[in-house]
Amino acid sequence: MSTIFSQIVEGEIPARVVYEDETTLAFLDANPLAPGHTLVVPKDEYERLNDIPEDVADDLYDTIHRLVPAVEDAVDADASTVAFNNGEAAGQEVPHVHCHIVPRFEGDGGGPIHAVAGETPDLEDDELDEIAEDIESRA
Ligand code: 5GP
Repeated sequence: MSTIFSQIVEGEIPARVVYEDETTLAFLDANPLAPGHTLVVPKDEYERLNDIPEDVADDLYDTIHRLVPAVEDAVDADASTVAFNNGEAAGQEVPHVHCHIVPRFEGDGGGPIHAVAGETPDLEDDELDEIAEDIESRA
């Protein structure tokens, strides 16, 4: 069963496509958080960011880099929030990697990316050191 975004890629269901190349596609979100809310996807189906092969990840970033100014300029936005919900626990509903480009406007009442987390942890310096070392060893 292919994802709804694969069906858009295949042209099986309609979407307002704003950019397409060999490996990526961008189209307007059907339930926009702001005018111009755009999704950028790899054409092939990968569930999470770390499932994407490096060359496709490069292409995906190139498309995001191209689309952010295009989206902001098209709706005269002051800024944009650019984000992935990476996994179900983070709010990902469609299991096909997609980048949200959400135009932002002065006084739009929205929050910063810091607002996405629940309770924030109170971490000691040694815990932060340990976490940093652990990430560094895996990077
Ligand atoms: P997620 O929560 O998985 O990060 O976001 C999925 C996004 O896909 C939502 O913002 C939702 O509005 C959008 N979406 C879901 N179904 C469709 C669809 O059929 N067409 C388009 N254009 N967007 C969709």
